[in-house]
Amino acid sequence: MRFDTDDTDEQREFREEFREWLKDNLPDGWVQSIKNGDEELFKESRSKWDIFSWMKTVGLSGYAAPLWPREYGGISGTAWMQQIIREELSANRLPLAGINLLGVGLAGPTIIEHGNENQKTRYLSKILTGEEIWCQLFSEPGSGSDLASLSTKAVKDGDEWVINGQKVWTTIAQFAKFGMLLARTNPNVPKHEGLSYFILDMHSKGVEIRPLKQMTGSSEFNEVFFNDVRIPAENLVGSVGDGWRCARTTLMNERTALAGLSIDETTFLGGSAKKDPWQIFLDSVPNKEDPLIRQQLAQFFIETQVKEITSFRANAARKAGNSPGPEGGVNKVFNAEFNKRKTEFSMNANGLRSIAWKSGDRNFEDLATRFLRARANTIEGGTSEVLRNQMSERILGLPRDVEVDKDIPWAGIGKN
Ligand SMILES: Cc1cc2nc3c(=O)[nH]c(=O)nc-3n(C[C@H](O)[C@H](O)[C@H](O)COP(=O)(O)OP(=O)(O)OC[C@H]3O[C@@H](n4cnc5c(N)ncnc54)[C@H](O)[C@@H]3O)c2cc1C
Repeated sequence: MRFDTDDTDEQREFREEFREWLKDNLPDGWVQSIKNGDEELFKESRSKWDIFSWMKTVGLSGYAAPLWPREYGGISGTAWMQQIIREELSANRLPLAGINLLGVGLAGPTIIEHGNENQKTRYLSKILTGEEIWCQLFSEPGSGSDLASLSTKAVKDGDEWVINGQKVWTTIAQFAKFGMLLARTNPNVPKHEGLSYFILDMHSKGVEIRPLKQMTGSSEFNEVFFNDVRIPAENLVGSVGDGWRCARTTLMNERTALAGLSIDETTFLGGSAKKDPWQIFLDSVPNKEDPLIRQQLAQFFIETQVKEITSFRANAARKAGNSPGPEGGVNKVFNAEFNKRKTEFSMNANGLRSIAWKSGDRNFEDLATRFLRARANTIEGGTSEVLRNQMSERILGLPRDVEVDKDIPWAGIGKN
């Protein structure tokens, strides 16, 4: 189901302008094939399309980051413009975010807010064009939800900072040119006050990246070790001790960047042959005549509609220029758990075939991969438990979560 709100005259004009731009910049036949539901033409057109050159084209146009100021490569736009761009990209089966999601969605806005002019000139345009991929070096083996407790240390030595420690869960570190690094520069003050934010060249001497093999068989994320890594002082973002404020900008943008997308529905590489996630789910369920299966499918359908309506409310608010409400967090928690339930249901409905399939059968291979990958949904981008805590505090007004070590110097806190 698709929901639409009426555009104002200004919004209609902007939508038309962007549609024209898409027509001019996509391979011939792309827009037409989608309009006419012509899969053959779409496949032909898709074969002439490449994600890297697409990222560059969008990056140079300003549409990749409409909210960014014009001088840094955006269009100094508004939330409704961003929403219209997302709607049109999605309608045209294009990725809502390129492979540089972390660069465009997280690093860019942090540099715009806290970086100096040199940093803005040096990094922003190459983030937008995808020429330099970024990763996020925040989580550590002992610090995830309680990020401010992290231990990686940065010690000043002349014009450089020397970094020692370890990060984990670092998505796409193996492909990244730069990382947003949060490190401890002062252990003798409370945990939030002793952090600083750096831009790390991932190819620096002493950076060791070890891909972690997931149960899906792929390696999305990595462990990253720092052994006397030297970072030039000019790569400090904001001032010394200001890291938590900068990190909050990154984290707030992480929520916003991920809120408009949904983990199971984002086609990062774009132009997927089968786009509708509901259809993918339906195709994965056998015995649809069985009354029990039908009953369950009806329940999933109802929940899918509720989820869509919630997204629609968030999108409508964005389009009306209102600040995002609680829908982002609510949808993140719901989507993550819903995705787990759906994939579990498909696996059960397929019985033994879902664990022992004929070699090379992509349908069952994909089903098993989606089932295994879904386990991460309730952890990545903030765990469901922590998001529930935040919702209970910010939406329901319940008392804050207990934090006994908030005012104690970090060096005096017990570590795990
Ligand atoms: C696929 C994936 C990709 C990721 N990519 C990145 C990345 O690129 N960069 C990066 O820096 N990090 C990344 N992360 C890390 C992610 O941010 C952390 O896993 C997450 O914040 C949880 O931290 P943790 O794993 O240390 O779990 P913990 O914080 O140790 O939590 C363990 C359990 O305790 C619960 N818990 C913790 N605190 C509370 C509380 N106060 N109240 C109730 N329950 C609580 C949690 O919900 C969880 O169930 C990624 C994670 C995943 C799964």
